Amino acid sequence: MISMNEDKDKLNYFIVDSTAIIHQFMLENELKDNDLLLVPELLEDELKSSESKSVLTVLEAEDKIIKTAPSSESIEKISKIAMETGDISALSKIDLHVLALSLDFPDSVVYSDDNAVQNVCKKLNVKFQSFQFKIKHQREYFWKCTVCRSKFTYKLDSCPDCGSSTKRYFKKK
Ligand SMILES: [Zn+2]
Repeated sequence: MISMNEDKDKLNYFIVDSTAIIHQFMLENELKDNDLLLVPELLEDELKSSESKSVLTVLEAEDKIIKTAPSSESIEKISKIAMETGDISALSKIDLHVLALSLDFPDSVVYSDDNAVQNVCKKLNVKFQSFQFKIKHQREYFWKCTVCRSKFTYKLDSCPDCGSSTKRYFKKK
């Protein structure tokens, strides 16, 4: 039996490509406490602007991102499948690594607007989402003290009134 607690503490892995980082996907509006972003190690090389590089730095500072290399078995498997589906020529090395990570981390969700990536996900039965539509729905958030319920419009590690921890909430529209 799965208890509520176990469910609540379960980490959700989202595998994202550089486009997601460039659009600051999930950083501002989507990422919840138990959510973690997985990116291929190679991704850093693909980020050209200082803005997107700083997004990565912020995510790292907040322990919200894991940079990792997929296993070579998974890369091999993905390459084979992409050859079967005919997507191989449309996939960059990073795309291949994004897809390979989805095999290394089962139950993860791939976020990519790339058709070839989505196509291979379909073939693999890996959950995928396009993030394009999400960018249009920027949400505002606020922080609330977990004890005295004071509200703050900016991030505070501890409540200035009672010293307790704060939690982030989204403003409902
Ligand atoms: Zn407080």
